[in-house]
Amino acid sequence: MNIGAALFPHDLNQFLNDYYRSKGVEVMSRKTVTGLTRKQDRLILDARSVDESDKYTIEVDAVVAGIGIKPDVSWLEKSGLTIDNGIVVDELLRTQNPDIFAAGDVANFYNPSLGIRMRAEHEDNALTMGECAGRNMAGESQTYHHLPYFYSDLFELGYEAVGKTDSRLEMLEDWVEPYKKGVIYYLHQDRVRGVLLWNVWDRVNAARALIAEPGPFTAADMKGRLAF
Ligand SMILES: Cc1cc2nc3c(=O)[nH]c(=O)nc-3n(C[C@H](O)[C@H](O)[C@H](O)COP(=O)(O)OP(=O)(O)OC[C@H]3O[C@@H](n4cnc5c(N)ncnc54)[C@H](O)[C@@H]3O)c2cc1C
Repeated sequence: MNIGAALFPHDLNQFLNDYYRSKGVEVMSRKTVTGLTRKQDRLILDARSVDESDKYTIEVDAVVAGIGIKPDVSWLEKSGLTIDNGIVVDELLRTQNPDIFAAGDVANFYNPSLGIRMRAEHEDNALTMGECAGRNMAGESQTYHHLPYFYSDLFELGYEAVGKTDSRLEMLEDWVEPYKKGVIYYLHQDRVRGVLLWNVWDRVNAARALIAEPGPFTAADMKGRLAF
């Protein structure tokens, strides 16, 4: 896979990978890592092409694996808490046992804007949810309806993303300047399910509001809506 292939439309994805190459990064797409061994103070990465026609050995100083996480909940198997892709919580962030709360990467919560249960592995979710759980543990009854966003900085470029930014959805690109500034809308069944704000700032709350709207939305509705 290319960098960002799971998130971005194909043309933006191509641009981004060329952009990284222009910064001196060797992007090896359509290859998969098959092994990692230590050789004195160096590391040896074994890789192969996805069609298995070629094998590669790459010697490196260090490896950073950006591969997502799997919640470590095996120790909770006999706890009586509901475990399903993390620890299942209600809208007050209580587990099955109302005296036990969960928040952050490990918590599986319901988001009303998207109408789905989800787990988010991002800072905004951990911070906002942690505070909400803390308040509820102290006696408040604050519902967690927050739709988390995440961000990334890519050399001089950067983005903020809200909702379901999945390149398998229908995507509408609204560029102020191609690949430098614009918004990608992710639609499903005429509703906006995700928004990618590419070098467009201070629109996260507007994006959240758009995702909460029932629609129906068409491509024409999106033009200039958040990018200007
Ligand atoms: C390399 C990396 C880069 C990231 N970059 C970004 C980014 O650019 N933007 C972004 O939004 N997010 C990013 N994230 C994600 C973000 O850091 C996490 O979403 C956030 O830290 C989750 O907070 P948390 O409190 O839920 O979990 P954590 O920060 O993982 O804290 C959980 C704590 O629980 C402890 N723990 C685990 N099991 C037990 C146990 N059985 N008993 C006691 N303690 C236990 C752990 O040791 C840990 O201290 C990144 C994460 C990583 C790893």
